[in-house]
Amino acid sequence: MKLSLSLGSYKNVKVYIHWTFSLLLLWIIISNSRQGMPGMDILWIIIFVLALFACVVFHEFGHALAAQKYGIQTKDIVLYPIGGVARLEKLPEEPKQELWVAISGPLVNIGIFLILSLVLNFTGFDITNLEQLESIKIGPSTIVLYLASANLILALFNLIPAFPMDGGRILRAFLAIRMPRAKATKIAGSIGQFLAIFLIFFGLFNNPILVLIGVFIFLGAGAEVSHTQQESLLKGFKVKDAIMMKFQILGFDAPLSKAVEKLLNSQATHFVVVKDDVAVGTLSRNEIIKGLQEGGENLLIEKVADMNPMKVETEEDLDEAWKRMLTESRKVAFVIENGHFLGILDQENISEFVMVKTAIQK
Ligand SMILES: [Zn+2]
Repeated sequence: MKLSLSLGSYKNVKVYIHWTFSLLLLWIIISNSRQGMPGMDILWIIIFVLALFACVVFHEFGHALAAQKYGIQTKDIVLYPIGGVARLEKLPEEPKQELWVAISGPLVNIGIFLILSLVLNFTGFDITNLEQLESIKIGPSTIVLYLASANLILALFNLIPAFPMDGGRILRAFLAIRMPRAKATKIAGSIGQFLAIFLIFFGLFNNPILVLIGVFIFLGAGAEVSHTQQESLLKGFKVKDAIMMKFQILGFDAPLSKAVEKLLNSQATHFVVVKDDVAVGTLSRNEIIKGLQEGGENLLIEKVADMNPMKVETEEDLDEAWKRMLTESRKVAFVIENGHFLGILDQENISEFVMVKTAIQK
């Protein structure tokens, strides 16, 4: 993972922190010191933010370890300034498994909240009096109180029944126990978008951050519905049904200028790289542009091409191959039959395949 700092790993799940996270810390330091806040107070705010993000990591581990129980691995957990993302290899489709994987994250925060509440109880704080938070600043004696409230808010926020929040998945899992997954997703998605519109309107008159969250939820719900629809339309097909046998080829030792020429003179956005008549790699439009910027048009194609392309088998289920391409962020893959290269599978082509299927269904 580029531009991210590794924080280590636990049970085969690597944890990374994205570089933009440093901007958040920088912003906290600059904005508060400009208001004349003493250095010690700023330090406590930073300790609070770091502790809160540790709780976010625990939340993501809740998902990752629950998924591991069902044999699903997690590629990594990445921390961004807006929160964490656990990249699961795939989502469990069995409703009860999805329910457990989705609910495990918020449950972790509720667990932390309960433990911290107990601690607070001993120290004499009234945890239910949230108003006191506005009057006390973060410091050694109040950080536990802040962390407890933050964990409760994290849990409740994630339980909002709308994609892409955990609550959206929990809702879909409940619905999917009684109906097909695609239909359950459609209903859960509509509920999520309805909530998002409500949140946007409410936020317009109260808090602009709610408007942003509303837009985020609205788009996320739409994306989840179309993703699941695509997935269910691909079911029952094999890779060989969507294979592309016509493609443009380029020699591995040709200069980039050859690729540019082909790019400008055809509809193709990626090419198959060959060596002694054997397909050995793929070259995408982005790789061509990157190569031009870094080494100019005399650079050899093999220097910029992906010489270790993803491989799928002709008899592999199309939905599985598609999901694999998504998780590995691959736009194109080699299709192999009996150990031999047969053609390519590309995401655009899969999307066209789905559009044709939908048109026929209607
Ligand atoms: Zn979560």
